[in-house]
Amino acid sequence: MVERVRAVDQPQRERIRDDLKGILRGELLFDDLSCILYSTDASIFEVRPAGVVVPRDEEDVQALVRYAAEQQVPLVPRGAGTGLAGEALGDGLIVDLSKHFRGILDVGADTVRVQPGVVYRDLNRELARIGRRFAPDPSNIECTVGGMLATNASGTRAFRHGFTRDHVLRLHAVLDNGDAVDVGRQSRWPTAAEWRVKDGMFPPSSGRLDDIISSVVTLLEQYAETIAACRPRTRFHRCGYLLHDVLDMESLDLARLLVGSEGTLALFTEATLRTIPLPGGRAVALFGFARLDEALRAAQLASATGPAACDLIDHRLLRLARGSHGTVAELVPPAVEAVLLIEYESDTPAGATQLANDLANQLYRCERLALLAHVASDEPACQRLWQVREAVLPSLYGLRGQTQPLAFVEDVGVPPELLPGYLHRVQEVLQRHEITASYLIHAAAGQVHMRPFVEWRGPEDAARLWTLADEVYDIVLDLGGTISAQNGTGLARTPWVSRQAGPLFSIFRELKSIFDPRHLLNPGKIVGLPSAAPTWPLRRLATHQRAGSVSDGSTGETPTPPSAVAYASGSSMREEECNRCNGCGECRTESPAQRMCPIFRATHDEAATPRAKANLLRHLLQPDTDPHLLSSDDVRAVADLCVNCKMCAHECPARVNVPKLMLQVKAANVAEHGLDRTDWAMARTEEFALLGSALAPLTNAVLDNPLARWLLEKLFGLSRRRRLPAFAGRSFLRRAYHRGWTRKPRSARPRVAYFVDVFANYNDPLLAESIVAVLHHNDIEVYVPPRQGGCGMAPLAYGDVETAREAVESNLLILADLAREGYPILCSEPTAAVMMRHDALDLLDDPDARLVAAQTVESTAFLWDLYQQGNLRTDFQPLPFAVGHHVPCHLKALGRTPVGSALLSLIPQMRVHTIDVSCSGMAGTYGLKAENYETSLAAGRPMLEQLRRPHVLFGSTECSTCRIQMEDAASVRTLHPAQYLALAYGYLPELRRRLLQPIRHRGIR
Ligand SMILES: Cc1cc2nc3c(=O)[nH]c(=O)nc-3n(C[C@H](O)[C@H](O)[C@H](O)COP(=O)(O)OP(=O)(O)OC[C@H]3O[C@@H](n4cnc5c(N)ncnc54)[C@H](O)[C@@H]3O)c2cc1C
Ligand code: SF4
Ligand code: SF4
Repeated sequence: MVERVRAVDQPQRERIRDDLKGILRGELLFDDLSCILYSTDASIFEVRPAGVVVPRDEEDVQALVRYAAEQQVPLVPRGAGTGLAGEALGDGLIVDLSKHFRGILDVGADTVRVQPGVVYRDLNRELARIGRRFAPDPSNIECTVGGMLATNASGTRAFRHGFTRDHVLRLHAVLDNGDAVDVGRQSRWPTAAEWRVKDGMFPPSSGRLDDIISSVVTLLEQYAETIAACRPRTRFHRCGYLLHDVLDMESLDLARLLVGSEGTLALFTEATLRTIPLPGGRAVALFGFARLDEALRAAQLASATGPAACDLIDHRLLRLARGSHGTVAELVPPAVEAVLLIEYESDTPAGATQLANDLANQLYRCERLALLAHVASDEPACQRLWQVREAVLPSLYGLRGQTQPLAFVEDVGVPPELLPGYLHRVQEVLQRHEITASYLIHAAAGQVHMRPFVEWRGPEDAARLWTLADEVYDIVLDLGGTISAQNGTGLARTPWVSRQAGPLFSIFRELKSIFDPRHLLNPGKIVGLPSAAPTWPLRRLATHQRAGSVSDGSTGETPTPPSAVAYASGSSMREEECNRCNGCGECRTESPAQRMCPIFRATHDEAATPRAKANLLRHLLQPDTDPHLLSSDDVRAVADLCVNCKMCAHECPARVNVPKLMLQVKAANVAEHGLDRTDWAMARTEEFALLGSALAPLTNAVLDNPLARWLLEKLFGLSRRRRLPAFAGRSFLRRAYHRGWTRKPRSARPRVAYFVDVFANYNDPLLAESIVAVLHHNDIEVYVPPRQGGCGMAPLAYGDVETAREAVESNLLILADLAREGYPILCSEPTAAVMMRHDALDLLDDPDARLVAAQTVESTAFLWDLYQQGNLRTDFQPLPFAVGHHVPCHLKALGRTPVGSALLSLIPQMRVHTIDVSCSGMAGTYGLKAENYETSLAAGRPMLEQLRRPHVLFGSTECSTCRIQMEDAASVRTLHPAQYLALAYGYLPELRRRLLQPIRHRGIR
């Protein structure tokens, strides 16, 4: 019997880290915080690893495995950590292959060779360029190919395209002794010439592989009858090791055997995958039914017609999605209790449409099963119908409150014809437990994704959930189904594998012993450990009981100013907020259609993900965590990886407000330690700008001087490589005073109060003047409140809550009365609008703040509304050049459709290219810091690349710090859209001169 590998204790941990330092080139993350960040995935489980290794290349992996074998240290390979069953959790060393193994090595005519860290979404985007795809389609497209291989992933279209296993040709894998081997379908006699002679030489490490091949062949032959007799009844079965279809008279397909082994047999370092053409045509049909059983009957009829996908969505999911997604409400009326989404693929669009129309005829007209039918044959219409399915998970994840839709029995499969009986019996179980559940069913394949709505309080619920799972699995097994049809076995289902596998289970164990006799590779998964206790390590949740216990910065006896503590402590919402992160990993996306998370995109570090930050806070807000940790510098270092772009709060399906949580962490740190010199300088941009403007000739000369910039870097951490915008000698507020704009208008014409903010006031008064010129040209009075200050976002971003709050309070004194008088508060700086509309409400619980928030409007949105109402003059002179308009993150964070490009398009002959691909990387003052310079450029690279394209002459953006990045890093002159409008109206000709000024004289004077 195999000994259970002992958990790694603290002294051992330190020794391992020190040993590995001398052996590996990759990163070693052995500190407590890193371990916390890797202790969860997308499952409901939590296991603290002993450490995390991020290997740089295959040699690192080999060296690590050899070391682990010598020292008896368990290894847990990990991709994106999106597993729903806790497959990538363990108390050994996590091996994160998602960072350095991201290469798509070779794209052939019908194959592709990749490293395991390649993200599925990126792979298919690359393959689409040559009209091909990797066919398995898990609905979480941020997972890695390594994770897909290890879990034998499949998706909605599995009915047509099968599992990952069906699309793998070869694997490069590191075996338990550190040998790196190439496996695929190969001779079952390992000494055959193809394995012995490679370029005239023996493969360097074939010995262990030879042993494995002969032992596996012997094992499979010995138990051939049992394996044949136990062939799963359901086609869609992925639980345990898949022993069928790997051995024939001539060959053993080791790659096929290893796929689905969840990191328990070997670590994959490369894979050659089969690709298939993109479909020549596809059509989608959506059917609505008054009853679930009618939808199930319809699904059976549909499956006989060979669909690619056949998804059933139940009434609970529909109700949620209807409430949160306009398209669902439009397509699916409340009378519909279940929806079937059927997709056909064909060689031609007409072929697919014909199949969808035939089915619609059958279900809607002939059988009269469906209440409604929509058929879509062109791409946008197909995508619109799929939105019903896509809206489901975010609306589930977005649910507030303690009762949550948990994934722990979400992966069962039964023979499709038995689905009605299964659902009926499960319903009885749920009723007994007084629980409801939602269902998403791949009906043609019989795969049921059920999410019971459970009141979840943390680990104490393990026994309750376990009992429920046990009863559900009883039914599944009774019906000849599988407890794992798609997602993974992991911690969630390993305890039931022996019941599922029956006589196969002992073969599983022998197989594990052949590959990994020491049980060091992802122990406890699939075959479990002999001494494994029947319990689940459920995630611990943040609790509210310690709210307000932020350290006050000294001995714990002197009270911190109550307001700083209040902000840092937040309310009970803070705990709920971080508990709501389910670990789905969507925030690891690098999709150009999304923005989160610029720093993760630049670094590929798990710590940079919004998920990591939510995990961190969940840990910090647990009763037994040292309260001082919240304000510690280690925690602050993770929080500093958030640049407050707010894009994850906008795009995360569960709407976790990570930037707010991180501002609270920074505030706690500042409350205890104060600001360091660099942060202090960055938080004081307004004061520096005031001074810089007052002494403009001197400051500008200093900023142009390399020696002075070097000194600024040494003193304040300001990157000497940044060429900063020059200061204007006369601020806009002073100019406004002289022009009478700081007096309240008396006419009855429409009017606005203009909130200028720092950059337009001190660096680019011509921006503010453009706003005034454009509004005046449209007969709108502009009042510039004279004593306004900066919005306060710069200090807030560094955790200096008191300074930020003072800024907000002092502006409110001026703006609240104006808001009461009905003035719209117009901001040309999106960040200022974000501050007034959102962050100010977190800083101050004040009705005036809410009033001003409601009246605040960003300038391009205001102008576009004028245009929509027919009140914007369009007497523009042509501007015959091409402009690349970058959409800033904070503009998106305001929640309205960005309209900068649309406004610019009103100017005759201006060719506008919208650049909506990434953060600029500047992120307020983040990119000004020397330590962030490279990351800032990397985060902004997609945008900068678009801006540098030859067809773009000038840049445009609403955000002033994005603009600094665009001018500095892409050397493209950039203006605010309002400046182009002013120019086109015939005002401010100096803007034209500025555009023509060579970028090396980069001052915006
Ligand atoms: C919202 C949501 C929807 C999902 N939908 C689907 C779906 O439709 N279909 C589906 O199949 N799954 C689905 N999943 C589950 C999950 O996304 C898949 O299992 C995915 O393949 C895991 O990939 P990963 O990169 O995140 O791997 P991880 O979760 O990091 O790891 C998964 C397993 O792979 C092993 N592993 C990772 N890399 C390697 C390697 N290089 N060598 C050896 N072992 C390795 C790990 O040890 C672990 O056992 C979903 C998850 C979520 C959160
Ligand atoms: S932060 Fe949001 S997107 Fe990221 S893992 Fe958590 S729930 Fe998913
Ligand atoms: S706010 Fe932006 S930088 Fe911060 S975690 Fe979210 S996406 Fe990343």
